[in-house]
Amino acid sequence: MTEEQIKSNCIACDSDISEFELASKSGFQFFACIECGTVNTLPLPKAQELKEFYDGLEFDTSAYNLAEDKNIKKATKTIKKLIELNSGKDFLNIGMHTGYNEKAAKSLGLNPKSIHPDDIGKHKDKADIIFIENCIERLLEPDKFFSKLYDLLNDKGIIYIKSLDGNHFMIPSKFEKWKYAIPPINLNYFSKEGLEVVLNKYGLKTLKSDFNLKPILGVTAKKLAKKK
Ligand SMILES: [Zn+2]
Repeated sequence: MTEEQIKSNCIACDSDISEFELASKSGFQFFACIECGTVNTLPLPKAQELKEFYDGLEFDTSAYNLAEDKNIKKATKTIKKLIELNSGKDFLNIGMHTGYNEKAAKSLGLNPKSIHPDDIGKHKDKADIIFIENCIERLLEPDKFFSKLYDLLNDKGIIYIKSLDGNHFMIPSKFEKWKYAIPPINLNYFSKEGLEVVLNKYGLKTLKSDFNLKPILGVTAKKLAKKK
């Protein structure tokens, strides 16, 4: 593969997506996968370019702070449902700007820890519940990330993934007009089906997907008996 050729297989199901350009924005192209509905961004920035992009951004976290109570409430409701599936106490929160998940878990008597997605390879402690939010849509190498989850989860552990839903009926017909279609911040727009395929590839099975009128995915998964 030369530098100029870009990888054109779906990040979720690996199908060829090179002929299905949906839209373009800010120098990036969006490709929809006709097999699983996931929307892929190409070309992916290099890690260094992405780092420089984020270094140059000034994140305004005031919106997160303002919405903190609301976010804690929402997270508490979701985590309560996960506790019904697994009563273990070790809770791992993976994501950016998601401190409220940790606070919600603590209020429910769990032992929460939070890590940045880039540090997943360094983290060794297993958890009973892994909560992933504001995360997979931004990863340069989602495969690498998903491949680590199995070993971080206790045998009867539960994973919850919240992300954008790239194949939702509320997304504008002009994809680039969607407020979350913002490369290079958001790169991976998984569909429900695509996320199920990728989880299965790494030994995890979808138990349920939340119904949502907004284009947001909420997927609960558990471990398969054996890692694939
Ligand atoms: Zn696909």
